[in-house]
Amino acid sequence: MTGFPLPPNATIGIVGGGQLGRMSAMAAARLGYRCHIFSPEPDAPASQVAAATTRADYDDNAALLRFADAVDVITFEFENVSAEGLDLLADRRPVRPGPEILRISQDRIAEKSFLNEAGIGTAPWAPVSSMAELTAAIAAIGLPAVLKTTRLGYDGKGQALIRTEAEAEMAFGLLHPKPLILEGFVDFAAEGSVVVARGADGTVSAFDMVENRHRDHILDLTLAPAPFDPALRETAREMARLVAERIGLVGLLAVEFFIDRDGRVLANEIAPRPHNSGHWTIDACPASQFELHIRAVAGLPLPPAIRHSDAVMKNLVGPEDIALWPRIVATAGLIPHHYGKTAARPGRKLGHVNVLFPHGALPGEFGIQAALGPLAGGTDQ
Ligand code: AMP
Repeated sequence: MTGFPLPPNATIGIVGGGQLGRMSAMAAARLGYRCHIFSPEPDAPASQVAAATTRADYDDNAALLRFADAVDVITFEFENVSAEGLDLLADRRPVRPGPEILRISQDRIAEKSFLNEAGIGTAPWAPVSSMAELTAAIAAIGLPAVLKTTRLGYDGKGQALIRTEAEAEMAFGLLHPKPLILEGFVDFAAEGSVVVARGADGTVSAFDMVENRHRDHILDLTLAPAPFDPALRETAREMARLVAERIGLVGLLAVEFFIDRDGRVLANEIAPRPHNSGHWTIDACPASQFELHIRAVAGLPLPPAIRHSDAVMKNLVGPEDIALWPRIVATAGLIPHHYGKTAARPGRKLGHVNVLFPHGALPGEFGIQAALGPLAGGTDQ
């Protein structure tokens, strides 16, 4: 095992084989590192660009130990590794970000408690484990509200909107017996996020806040920077810095926010890994979110999270978007990113496109759609 900062040719272990691991491995390669992927998937997007893969299930302890012994440091791009698996890995090698951070982000109750204790506002919430508790939570929080599983939810999965008391019982029936949380529904004006990195020496680098627009609960478009009041963007950035410091981050995380109709910034989630809303940084910044992630994990100095261009990122989701690939690669100004996935299932993220604009010159709606060419189209909001 090599000490920090990792020298070139050291090996970074990445748990998870998806596109986040793929783009992390590509950034690592530029810094001279090798990546070793742990993934149950054959031909995983990250494995296609990595030096080695341990192909096994996330609960295969023997394989996790073999993987740990083969690498110098461990990070992850997949959050739902079991606590036991993480402890096994952390016994053998440094895990960055640390297991405690994953434990907080894996559980919506731990996550919201952490945020509120740090003085960061969220939607009002209450834990729910019975119909009686749900009735009490609705009385306290009001309707509409969103009932969510506390664990393993993503892209709108594992949650149900409750508009009336009659819908409460249905939602409970759908999601029980998993542990649940009720959150007040935020009638948000917009959604945004901040990606922040923190090095082992305590240096913090936070990108500017971006706006995120969804289609069918999946991220569709990211606008960098968010076309919000700069003071509001700075508030969100400060909150993300605070999260990174309070949680003792070594690595990178994203904080997702709602902006409510009164212009308040409310945190929704913490994702302790590179984030889809940070993909624009690959082309618009001297050091992308993936480079900052790898630098923090490897113990290298962290450069500031600055951009040389404004940008729009558009996700390529499912067979319809990826069918446009030949037109995308033929359109000047679209910077294409393909994840190497062979099965184009509906709802699957298969790639993304970045479009750059001069710094400070992000256009309005019309200009953005015009720049997207064959990818122009509506979003949910
Ligand atoms: P999550 O799984 O918490 O990231 O939620 C996925 C998406 O559902 C968010 O990006 C929002 O668009 C929506 N959503 C989640 N929670 C709430 C809430 N409390 N109020 C309004 N919309 C929500």
